[in-house]
Amino acid sequence: MRLIFMGPPGAGKGTQAAAVCDRYGIPAISTGDIFRANVSAGTPLGIEAQTYMNAGDYVPDEVTNAMVRDRLSQQDCRRGFLLDGYPRTLEQVKELDEMLAELDVQLNGAIVLDTDADELLKRLLERARTEGRADDTEDVIRRRQELYAEQTAPLLAEYDARGLLASVNGIGRVDHVTDRVHTAIARLTR
Ligand code: ADP
Repeated sequence: MRLIFMGPPGAGKGTQAAAVCDRYGIPAISTGDIFRANVSAGTPLGIEAQTYMNAGDYVPDEVTNAMVRDRLSQQDCRRGFLLDGYPRTLEQVKELDEMLAELDVQLNGAIVLDTDADELLKRLLERARTEGRADDTEDVIRRRQELYAEQTAPLLAEYDARGLLASVNGIGRVDHVTDRVHTAIARLTR
């Protein structure tokens, strides 16, 4: 199983990704989590990424692409994987296409979690209170939303044109959303 999870900041990608990965026994690869781990550990990658992340900007494509390429080449990805937060730019889509071709594998689909703007802001401000992420302040959230609309939303049309997109209503109880995600995956892999 090889999936992409898409959706604006706060859509619930990480939460749903965990449930799906559990069921299929595949690793969840969250570029945001990998960057945050590197920031905490003070690695050169973390030091480079931190400025962009704190401003709500995307980390440059070359940096992100190299990191994902390395991750996908690891042993635990052979049976499949779920990408959460990658690709986010058309350049990353092109790179991912190349990586998959090199590995001689194909995507099963891209799941997009749909949520409305009010719900997103509410969730992100709540997360700011409970998790204290440096980029969950109102200004930075707005910047991340802008970038998503400008740079990442166009990717939906790209995967839709390939017949790979499934849109899932992301509002409601977590387990209800999970059921919808599983239904969407079943449809994509039929
Ligand atoms: P969210 O989806 O809530 O914005 P993430 O945890 O997925 O949060 O990502 C946090 C930050 O990590 C992003 O704002 C960005 O700076 C960086 N990042 C994550 N994925 C990518 C990517 N594919 N390309 C560039 N930057 C990324």
